Amino acid sequence: MSYTYDDQNIFAKILRGEIPNGTVKETEHTLAFNDIQPQAPHHVLVIPKGAYVTADHFAASASDAEIADFWRCFGTICGELGVTPDQGDGYRIISNAGQNGVQDVPHFHLHILAGRPLGRMLNS
Ligand code: AMP
Repeated sequence: MSYTYDDQNIFAKILRGEIPNGTVKETEHTLAFNDIQPQAPHHVLVIPKGAYVTADHFAASASDAEIADFWRCFGTICGELGVTPDQGDGYRIISNAGQNGVQDVPHFHLHILAGRPLGRMLNS
């Protein structure tokens, strides 16, 4: 896998503490914070602390500990937001990658969207 990580991307700067963020949860390998332009009442971004560009890069190259920490953190946040379908009204997760995925920030991130009906998955 030959991804080149741009360490000047905005999430790298957030991880280095160079710009502020609205932290929702932080664990050993993962940071979650509120999206600066929320598309729903809950719009949380979950990112690994490691230098991974996309979901596939993370899946292929992260350690088992990083992957477990990331998904456990995601699950905990959904529970704390009260959006899991067993206790709330559900949510959507999205991870954009590359040109066709219209990824703006080249550091792997999961969008958690919740708090309103989200419509069908794609509109184009
Ligand atoms: P994507 O298009 O999937 O790469 O999404 C990038 C997301 O990062 C967008 O939803 C932006 O609103 C969000 N974003 C950009 N800069 C910041 C920031 N400084 N703090 C929080 N979210 C941000």
